[in-house]
Amino acid sequence: MTVFSAVLLALSGCVMMTGDAPAEYKETRLYYGTYVTIRCLYGEGTPISGIIARCWDEAGRIQTAMDVRSASGDVGRINASGGLGVRVGSGVYGLLKDSIEFSRLTGGAFDVTVYPLVEVWRTAARDNRLPDKAVLEEAKSKIGYQYVHLGGDNTVTLRKSGMKIDLGAIAKGYAVDRIARILSAGGIENFLVDAGGDIFCRGKNSSGSDWNVGIRDPIKAGGLIGSIRISGAAVTTSGDYERFYRIDGERFSHILNPATGYPGRTVISATVIAKTAEEADALATALCALEGEEGIRLTEKIDDVEAMVIEKADGELRMLTTEGFPDIKRKQ
Ligand code: AMP
Ligand code: MG
Repeated sequence: MTVFSAVLLALSGCVMMTGDAPAEYKETRLYYGTYVTIRCLYGEGTPISGIIARCWDEAGRIQTAMDVRSASGDVGRINASGGLGVRVGSGVYGLLKDSIEFSRLTGGAFDVTVYPLVEVWRTAARDNRLPDKAVLEEAKSKIGYQYVHLGGDNTVTLRKSGMKIDLGAIAKGYAVDRIARILSAGGIENFLVDAGGDIFCRGKNSSGSDWNVGIRDPIKAGGLIGSIRISGAAVTTSGDYERFYRIDGERFSHILNPATGYPGRTVISATVIAKTAEEADALATALCALEGEEGIRLTEKIDDVEAMVIEKADGELRMLTTEGFPDIKRKQ
């Protein structure tokens, strides 16, 4: 673990910074309540419009299946199942399977069954009143990834009364990986896909360099603390810079610690580099629920994953990274 000097910086996400290039497709659309950007370089004869259409179709399909507020989507149907088995698409089924693995790996800091707690904090923000302890305890009692049963035939059963799942902490990363796969299958070798800070890139940018991914400044809206060069990898930043609950003038992270029932308080931003955007997304969320050093220790044990967290302790900001985290090119 490397501890950088205590700087008054806090995080907020990842922003792409690349130069312009010919034969580059770049488009941003709104999905998952955020901006999804596909950027790629393509050669002559590439059936680019068909490939891109498949990418956006997939983004839309994933949005419907995984939207917790859509009654007809797979997640909505699971949450309305009242303990009965529900047959879902292979996308949601596979992602639930992976989610349970990430829950195990993070000791429950990432928990796909956190939704009852999300509802409590959403209501608290609406009413501008901190939740009662009893209400938090009740919500906590409905959480437990161990009680999600995955049966044959893509059937999902929630085995605790009142349980609800939420794939919001992993679905964007999954979508990025799916889009990346469609681009690769179409023969596109140089691309970057970004879903609100969940990024996967491959090959080179239009200047012939690895992709330059900016790491947002969590304190200064729209600012960057620096950037890293990556290729053939995913990078995700989670934090309370964009989405948070405001109660009684105080700001609370939208990432909740399932063990305490409260929003994560120490880590204000976590950036994770991994082989897939799905893994980076799940782990970045988990690191925001944990204490900084705890999260870095956990990440050091996982192969092919690097992380950086910014934590706030005693009014000071501290940046912690795993040994292998790449150099951050500081903003001048
Ligand atoms: P992300 O932006 O990827 O960090 O995901 C945050 C979203 O995941 C929140 O808005 C919740 O819907 C959900 N969430 C909050 N806390 C957790 C947690 N500990 N584990 C899994 N999902 C969570
Ligand atoms: Mg996440």
